[in-house]
Amino acid sequence: MRRIVVIGYGMAGHHLVARLIRVGRDEPGGGFGLTVLGAEVGAPYNRVLLPEVLAGRIDARRIDLAEPDDPRVTVRAGVRATRIDRRRRLVYGDDGSVLPYDDLVLATGANPVLPPLGGIRDEHGLKPGVHTLRTLADLERIQEQLASLVSLVSFTSPGGDGRKPRAVVVGGGLLGVQCARGLTLRGLEVDLIHQGPHLLDHRLDEDAAAVLARTARGLGIEVHVECRARTVLHDRDGRLTGVQLADGFRLDADLVLLACGSAPATGLAARAGLAVRDGVVVGEGLESVTDPRVHAIGDCAHTQHGMRAAHGLAAPALEQAEVLAERLLGRPAVYQGSSTVARLTATGVDIAILAAAPSPAAEPKPEHAARTVRLVDPVGGTHRAVTVHGGRVVSSVLIGDVSAAPRLARLVDRSGPLPENPLDLLFDPA
Ligand SMILES: Cc1cc2nc3c(=O)[nH]c(=O)nc-3n(C[C@H](O)[C@H](O)[C@H](O)COP(=O)(O)OP(=O)(O)OC[C@H]3O[C@@H](n4cnc5c(N)ncnc54)[C@H](O)[C@@H]3O)c2cc1C
Repeated sequence: MRRIVVIGYGMAGHHLVARLIRVGRDEPGGGFGLTVLGAEVGAPYNRVLLPEVLAGRIDARRIDLAEPDDPRVTVRAGVRATRIDRRRRLVYGDDGSVLPYDDLVLATGANPVLPPLGGIRDEHGLKPGVHTLRTLADLERIQEQLASLVSLVSFTSPGGDGRKPRAVVVGGGLLGVQCARGLTLRGLEVDLIHQGPHLLDHRLDEDAAAVLARTARGLGIEVHVECRARTVLHDRDGRLTGVQLADGFRLDADLVLLACGSAPATGLAARAGLAVRDGVVVGEGLESVTDPRVHAIGDCAHTQHGMRAAHGLAAPALEQAEVLAERLLGRPAVYQGSSTVARLTATGVDIAILAAAPSPAAEPKPEHAARTVRLVDPVGGTHRAVTVHGGRVVSSVLIGDVSAAPRLARLVDRSGPLPENPLDLLFDPA
């Protein structure tokens, strides 16, 4: 019987296990024994929904993912893999376990990037009041502070000091904007500071970002761009008091949330001698280019389509899990890249950013020039743009009115037929 060990029980690891069980149910090659090591304690969950829980829009219990019920699968939650011995094909867990494998899957995800700010860490980790949001444990820590803030500083509580609690969110990417909105919905005054020239500068052009910033300001978020934080300030009792900016200004704060991107968790792979770039380097079968018995999927993988395009989004992680499940069952699937849809639907801030997967087979002929059409209404808070090239929708940005997103999402996945006028793509046909 084939022994499969999966390291990481996040979205990619969970999806792989579910697919292996489903696809391998009646397969002759479905005879496998699978062990998953997951460093996080408790049931697997939908990480994408953490900001919704932060905003108080859904309950944390509702984001759990279904646990596998299959005698072939053993889940070891709360166990971290500490070492891989590739020569002897063994994985070591921090509970003392040693697991032999025939196939090893790395699905270790990514870790938040901590910016070079003073005052964010001490010997125990992040200082009181300073947060990142990657895991359910991070979220619980934020929730605890929010609960205590309400009684400490809320103007509604008898012992309060008469002002609203304040938060500074550092990082104006998708997660930063989403968290900023979530915190305003929890009753905080929020400053969102972003080092780049405009919000989401890796994904939006200046015009689109201006619409977004205006919407955010209308929702009570103070947006500061080209703004660099220098130090997080605490008083003598260790209580967070504010953020010192590089230009000398200071923002008062009770809570700081760092949303400065994430970096693939590749330490284990690198120590095992596997090739790592910005992720474990894998071929079209998602096998490590160093060792075909080791595979990598999700945020920790650097596929041949490049890490950056896909990194940090759930859809590529899930599609890679599906391809790998097929391969582990002996079928000839290959990963050909994913089209991506980054969506943000925090109340009042609706964004959809769509990008087609690279598709060499469908590469448009040079005579087909890319055509971009835009409909912008800064006052109404909408920006809609779509780019078509050689009969394909290659990208689209929708802000404020995302009703055309489902149709466009279907179109970025496959070629035409497209309407004569690309403007028609920006309206929901219904
Ligand atoms: C707050 C937040 C909001 C997001 N919102 C969106 C969104 O709206 N849309 C979208 O497409 N994407 C979103 N993402 C990104 C999406 O969640 C990730 O792309 C996806 O989770 C990647 O799945 P993964 O399995 O590779 O990594 P993860 O889901 O991070 O899972 C990795 C798991 O591996 C475990 N692990 C790591 N090292 C070890 C080890 N040595 N031993 C055992 N276990 C280990 C980790 O503890 C973790 O549980 C969001 C991410 C975050 C953090």
